Amino acid sequence: MQPQLGSLLVPAAALINHSCCPNAHHLSEGPELVLRSYRKIAKNEEITIAYINTAQLFEERQEKLSASYAFTCQCAKCADGSEMQEVLTGDPILDEHVYLAKSQLDTLEHASTDPGQDLISLEANVRQTFRSLSSRKPWPISLPPIPMIHVKLAIRFEDEQQWERALHYWLKIVYLIDPLRYPDRLDAHRVVDLMWLSQLEGRISHTIQTDSSVKATFDSIESSLSLAQWAHNIQLKDDAAASLGPNHIIFKVAAHFDKEMEGKMMASMGIEESAWQSEALKEMRAERFKVAERRLLEWAGVDVSVKTV
Ligand SMILES: [Zn+2]
Repeated sequence: MQPQLGSLLVPAAALINHSCCPNAHHLSEGPELVLRSYRKIAKNEEITIAYINTAQLFEERQEKLSASYAFTCQCAKCADGSEMQEVLTGDPILDEHVYLAKSQLDTLEHASTDPGQDLISLEANVRQTFRSLSSRKPWPISLPPIPMIHVKLAIRFEDEQQWERALHYWLKIVYLIDPLRYPDRLDAHRVVDLMWLSQLEGRISHTIQTDSSVKATFDSIESSLSLAQWAHNIQLKDDAAASLGPNHIIFKVAAHFDKEMEGKMMASMGIEESAWQSEALKEMRAERFKVAERRLLEWAGVDVSVKTV
């Protein structure tokens, strides 16, 4: 964690309004405030940023904006009201079950960070809750607090070196939840989650070499795992550069590992450096990655075509 060195006062930037579907975000690079767009911004289109986490529900967003910034948000997302914009799966079914289940899910969310809570029984509770929800109605996986429960479980499983479960949750977060929660590919949250996934794949690949019991667990996807890690890292490098800038630590770390892994991949495929960048080879690599990605998702039981749990 970096120490906080101070605050920036930037009058021009203070004029930028909030939107729950912003087209830009801001970050500080040393003594400078940098504004980066998520997508192309048309001439005369207003530049907007998010003052709060936009993945929260309509009521929660309105409450936060009103309490901290004293306004009622009327952005395009809020204009849809509380009904339409919560339906992030594209499935129009969202009813009182969401609200009935809320307290049950809130309890689980708090339990997931409690070190006294046994992880396996907690996960069993989570699964049971999700199952009962989805048996009644399709439950949008991107609806709070489900994403947070997934992230907390993923981190705790990783801390406890339960690689199989940790990988399962990170794959679900990156492939299933984030694209719904943060539709912009360059959203900083997505970049950070991709970093966690890539880092975990690296840790597992490393552990496989030294621990035969871990190798047995991942035997069926061992080669796909390293290929996926490499491809995820390339994507991470590109996305981090576009979203967070080349001075950001995530970009620098990803660029470093990209270089390192490129050597490994070339060696494993028996390819000379001069041929590495050829178009034909790029296609072959992309094709191989698609196969690796599919195997990884199948292994984790993540069906990206079904957006409910
Ligand atoms: Zn809004």
